[in-house]
Amino acid sequence: MNDRLSTGRRRTINAPTQTSMILKIVKYGESVLARPTEQVTAFDRELRELVDNMLETMYAAPGVGLAATQVGIGRRLFVMDCSTEKDKRQKIALINPVIESEEGEQIGQEGCLSVPGFYFDIKRPRKVVARGQDLDGNPVVLEVRDLEARCISHEVDHLDGKLLLVHLSPLKRDMLERKVKKKMKRGDW
Ligand SMILES: [Zn+2]
Repeated sequence: MNDRLSTGRRRTINAPTQTSMILKIVKYGESVLARPTEQVTAFDRELRELVDNMLETMYAAPGVGLAATQVGIGRRLFVMDCSTEKDKRQKIALINPVIESEEGEQIGQEGCLSVPGFYFDIKRPRKVVARGQDLDGNPVVLEVRDLEARCISHEVDHLDGKLLLVHLSPLKRDMLERKVKKKMKRGDW
């Protein structure tokens, strides 16, 4: 996910770890974004590398959340950092996430790195409790609110094969689809 605040802010050069690299972010229209994901079963080095690369890709975009489907991988995990690298505690990788409960609501501008250049007012829960696993497979419970709650809701949607478009009115969705098709024709997507 990205929001207006994070957009346009470039990541200061921060030597990436030797193995991490920026992955290609797939865009709306690619089938991997529309499919539900598979559970992660191996908590190995490959998973760690994927998470490192996803974080690197998210920071470089820049964005505050990134789901595995957005880098073309149909597995159930996402990364997020709503502090944009300012607070280490907010740097999160959640494996096999499930939303356990939601409370309240918030309406705010939201964008998606897979639908670049578009922002919409979208209603999300104010507070979210999510369960999942860390990189070692240990159970994790996250209780978050505000931007982090918006972000988790957005990323778990991705892992269920849903883009933020599902929260738009049919009229707004049609408008977006038309604009994206034009961009595709121009080779600008
Ligand atoms: Zn997104």
